[in-house]
Amino acid sequence: MEFGENSQRIRRSYPELPRRASRSRKPRSNLKKPRLPPAVTTESATLHFPLGLLRYSLLIGGLVRRVETVLAGSQQGDCAEIDSRNNINVEINVERQLPMTLAQAYGPDKFGLSFELFPPKTEKGMSALFRHVSRLAKFQPDYITCTYGAGGSTQDRTLEVIAGVLERHNLPVATHLTCVGRTPDELKDYLSRAEKLGIHNVVALRGDPPKGETEFRPVEGGFSYANELVAFIRSEFADMGIAVGGYPETHQEAPNAEADIENLKRKVDAGADLVVTQLFYDNREFFDFRERCQVAGIKVPIVPGLLPVTNGAQVQRIASLCGAKLPDQFVSDLQKHEGDVSGQFEVGVEYATKQTADLIEAGIAGIHYYVLNKSEAIERVLGVVSLPR
Ligand SMILES: Cc1cc2nc3c(=O)[nH]c(=O)nc-3n(C[C@H](O)[C@H](O)[C@H](O)COP(=O)(O)OP(=O)(O)OC[C@H]3O[C@@H](n4cnc5c(N)ncnc54)[C@H](O)[C@@H]3O)c2cc1C
Repeated sequence: MEFGENSQRIRRSYPELPRRASRSRKPRSNLKKPRLPPAVTTESATLHFPLGLLRYSLLIGGLVRRVETVLAGSQQGDCAEIDSRNNINVEINVERQLPMTLAQAYGPDKFGLSFELFPPKTEKGMSALFRHVSRLAKFQPDYITCTYGAGGSTQDRTLEVIAGVLERHNLPVATHLTCVGRTPDELKDYLSRAEKLGIHNVVALRGDPPKGETEFRPVEGGFSYANELVAFIRSEFADMGIAVGGYPETHQEAPNAEADIENLKRKVDAGADLVVTQLFYDNREFFDFRERCQVAGIKVPIVPGLLPVTNGAQVQRIASLCGAKLPDQFVSDLQKHEGDVSGQFEVGVEYATKQTADLIEAGIAGIHYYVLNKSEAIERVLGVVSLPR
């Protein structure tokens, strides 16, 4: 695959921040101040890894969560001091809440920009996270989400992170939520707590089987699939914004792509407002997926989820976790800079920039970045690409 012509024109100097003022959708280049860099070809190849590699870890669905786990150490390593504001007062002033729902971020004259965080394990990680969020907030995201893990303390951290984002930046936020190990009453209790904190949006997921198990088993009386969770949220929290996960490269448990799309449609029919996709590196996968959604009659926004890769080791981990299709040229460009952290960062940023520009050129409702609690790569990408907003 080759990215569009415009995508080949990248300004490599340090970016100015994009302005949000213009909401017009006039055709224009989506790259700021074009300058021609060396072309990057993107012929794709699926990287195959031995199935013996933790079969459990090969599940594409849990990739982001696992990538977070793998990378969490590095994000925590770069924070020096503890931010005293980390002691978040969970009794947030209700009057400051923004009652915006996720669906309102997208529309004919709206391009939704969103960032996804994960709950750090330590106070140090928490303070680093909020420093990065402050930088990301300058891009005026339409909302910020935070993932939800299996453990109770991590789940409280999820609320702490998004309540903190809301309190500091007054930005709309969404909590992720999974059915893992939770009864409907417990899920309801979590969402009631979230609502009291001013959180009116949820990314509703089934979740992956707990560690050591290969099959998802609901708790007694619990939900087996995300569409049941979506229906439950709609019935209990009618006004809540709901996003669901979609899989351009097909969820690993689905018998085939068509069945997976049918199941995605169940989630939309149950009341989801939009679909956010699993990460991918070959835009053709996304375009094909979007087409399958259209054919199936899925009419809500399909928002691509992108994770800029900024070092070679990360690529290998991602590949080993999900068997994602990674462009040969991209992998080899990263390999050329082996041992050169900043060289690999530049290659990753350039790839993510072109991938973003190409998606925009093809007309997308918005974009969701898995930022992995860091801001540098996204600042570079969004400093170059003009979002149509
Ligand atoms: C945007 C995004 C965010 C995520 N955030 C988190 C997170 O915060 N925490 C976390 O633990 N994980 C997260 N995940 C990973 C997710 O939990 C896994 O991918 C999980 O394996 C599937 O979740 P789901 O909601 O897509 O499941 P489902 O939509 O329930 O699908 C699971 C599988 O079952 C099939 N299926 C669905 N419905 C039916 C049905 N009614 N009958 C038969 N088969 C059906 C599907 O085709 C699919 O193969 C995220 C994934 C994405 C894409």
